[in-house]
Amino acid sequence: MVKYLLVAIVVALGIWLLRGQRRRRQAGKRPESPPQDMVTCAHCGIHFPRGESKMAGGRQFCSEAHRDEFRPR
Ligand SMILES: [Zn+2]
Repeated sequence: MVKYLLVAIVVALGIWLLRGQRRRRQAGKRPESPPQDMVTCAHCGIHFPRGESKMAGGRQFCSEAHRDEFRPR
């Protein structure tokens, strides 16, 4: 009877540990890949993160060079 009780405790412990690891993996994934808005360069059409964009006249550009080239003179 004590044997079965020990086996039951070991199995329960194993399940509890597995669940804890899964939770840690899921929680660790979120900060690694934050959803990032992608925008398109109005000059060359390349896709890049919004945080790196150069704004001009309500348009997004991948670089200052493309922003300057697109701007009508
Ligand atoms: Zn560009």
